[in-house]
Amino acid sequence: MYKLIDGKAHSRGIREEIAKGVEDYRQKYSKDIGLAVVLVGDDGASQVYVRNKIKGCEEVGIKSFAYYLPMDSTQEQVEELVSELARNEAVHGILVQLPLPKGLDAQKILSLIPVEKDVDGFSESNLGKLCMNEECLVACTPNGVMQMLKREGIQTRGKNAVVVGRSNIVGKPMAMLLLNADATVTVCHSKTVNLKEICAGADILVAAIGRAKFITADMVKEGAVVIDVGMNRDENGKLCGDVDFENVKDKCSYITPVPGGVGPMTITMLLYNTLTAAQRSV
Ligand code: NAP
Repeated sequence: MYKLIDGKAHSRGIREEIAKGVEDYRQKYSKDIGLAVVLVGDDGASQVYVRNKIKGCEEVGIKSFAYYLPMDSTQEQVEELVSELARNEAVHGILVQLPLPKGLDAQKILSLIPVEKDVDGFSESNLGKLCMNEECLVACTPNGVMQMLKREGIQTRGKNAVVVGRSNIVGKPMAMLLLNADATVTVCHSKTVNLKEICAGADILVAAIGRAKFITADMVKEGAVVIDVGMNRDENGKLCGDVDFENVKDKCSYITPVPGGVGPMTITMLLYNTLTAAQRSV
């Protein structure tokens, strides 16, 4: 019998801890913790993400500063805003919502976020520090996965972990976190040969691919822990993960659902990173 990992419940628990940490900070230093969110343009999905991030801040007592810039903003205008936020002492974390409109150099804009305010953990410095197992701000989605594993009491030491996907924001940091947690890690991607066999050897299988129901039952070992990062639409337009949940679940010891698994953890870990950034700034 598999156990469903309830991301919503873990997220609630962590948010309570964050709210306490934020309140302790306020009492101790007599000031707020601030997160600046920058949205350029009018992309519908980005607006929803930004709204949810602001709502998350309110829930845990973090002060949010939202900046909505028009679609036709120039590179200089966005750079000027991010540079100003970088200097602003009331702002402990800066998040530039991606993707940015075409014509803007996202990399150049992101590079203006100081490493200690990079609460998305996407910068070269934070990713590099993670590789070296040094203190850093870790990308929110993979960090959320690690929190779920930890809180479920799932051991990683000595386990064979397979991560399918090698993006800089999910797959690579996920692999590094598992490696730092003493798992033996294999990273797979679109050019991997024998993907099915490699996945079938995994004690812990993380799917971060972006293809609906790609991981099928024959790719999963009996008793495996299966973590589904994917967010896709199935043939009926319904939200689904990278894992063929209905056919895979009975082989698993633990599995995350979509929705309600990894998804709810991401914004929670952004709030966690903002608290961490503030605590390290004093
Ligand atoms: P991405 O940048 O598109 O990366 C996808 C990865 O999957 C790539 O490394 C790609 O390999 C690999 N891949 C694609 N087709 C494959 C195949 N047939 N066999 C093996 N590997 C294959 O995506 P991402 O940003 O990492 O996101 C992955 C998924 O997670 C998406 O569904 C996204 O929506 C979701 N996501 C969810 C959250 C959340 O909060 N739950 C957050 C972020 C992302 P190559 O490198 O060779 O191209």
